[in-house]
Amino acid sequence: MKAILAVSDFGTLFQALTERGYRIMGPVLRDGAIAYDELSSADDLPRGWTDEQDGGTYRVKVRQDAALFGYSVGPHSWKKFLLPPVMRLWRSERRNGGFEVRGEPQDTQKYAFLAVRSCDLHAIDTQDRVFLQGPYTDPVYKARREKAFIIAVNCGQAGGTCFCVSMGTGPKATSGFDLALTEVLEGEQHYFLVEDGTERGAEILSELPCGRATVEEEQAAEAVVARAAAQMGRVMDTSGIKELLYRNYEHPRWENVANRCLTCANCTNVCPTCFCTTIEDVTDLKGQQAERWRRWDSCFTMEFSYIHGGSIRASAKSRYRQWMTHKLATWIDQFGTSGCVGCGRCITWCPVGIDITEEVRAIRASEQTAIRNSPERGEGA
Ligand code: SF4
Ligand code: SF4
Repeated sequence: MKAILAVSDFGTLFQALTERGYRIMGPVLRDGAIAYDELSSADDLPRGWTDEQDGGTYRVKVRQDAALFGYSVGPHSWKKFLLPPVMRLWRSERRNGGFEVRGEPQDTQKYAFLAVRSCDLHAIDTQDRVFLQGPYTDPVYKARREKAFIIAVNCGQAGGTCFCVSMGTGPKATSGFDLALTEVLEGEQHYFLVEDGTERGAEILSELPCGRATVEEEQAAEAVVARAAAQMGRVMDTSGIKELLYRNYEHPRWENVANRCLTCANCTNVCPTCFCTTIEDVTDLKGQQAERWRRWDSCFTMEFSYIHGGSIRASAKSRYRQWMTHKLATWIDQFGTSGCVGCGRCITWCPVGIDITEEVRAIRASEQTAIRNSPERGEGA
């Protein structure tokens, strides 16, 4: 069903979700960025704000209208709720000459994620393959994922580093949501086209003060998404990308990017599909208690590839090459899909503005130049 919800009635969505016990997580303006945190009402949304993004550049600024969702993705992604950055797995205490091990209680809270963009729906689907569909299931991720109610928002404007159209992941949400919203602002009109994607989404939609969408309203919503699709800040040519990178492990471009890369790990932290974690065991000084913690890790650290006496990927070149070839090539062999959804976060939040689309373009262009200049081709021409 496609329905129309007036912006003045947007609060009823919050009411329907909180009555069902959901805590609502969504965009808030915080520390000069659009972050994701708990919302108590629609008043917490960054109404009338937008963002500007480019390589190594991010800034929020005031819009000329009162759009509730007039910005693209910021530094946070939904993985911080589904895969907490730091969490204790268990603790043990010395008792009666032995150890008593206690697992952590499961988080029973239900979360509703508001304003999940299409690229991030694909990122959640990618992490589902890792944590739910492989030989081992992650119980923490599973418990949070199964209870999550997802409200997608179709993008009305693309960010300066977005390339979801290239990756086939946006800007319109096509699956993986309970409800999907398109925000339409036309002159004095300001409303949402709401679509249900699941039964529980339809149940909530039936309680909202909505009217059935007219053909004109549906067309207006389609025009919003088409505008975003035409505004992509970046493009990535993905044709034969896996083979391209496999052919070019020794390309001089890796040295070039290593001279710029600070190995700071920002790109992996902001990436919505990166899933690596490490385990740390800690004990108290008396040796009475021990705890095991899990925290996000990054393939840009030396410790990540440490094996009996040394790190396999000691150079910045090997670490950047590993990250990019995993995202765009080996991930496809591993999970059947690209590890990149084109959200652009790694470009925006790289302190030196390294751009994954530019790195692919440089390798592809030099290979094409080499083919054009090869003697065999010259003879045949
Ligand atoms: S690699 Fe970069 S553009 Fe691709 S999903 Fe990760 S952060 Fe987004
Ligand atoms: S590519 Fe950029 S964000 Fe990633 S580790 Fe290097 S400097 Fe940091």
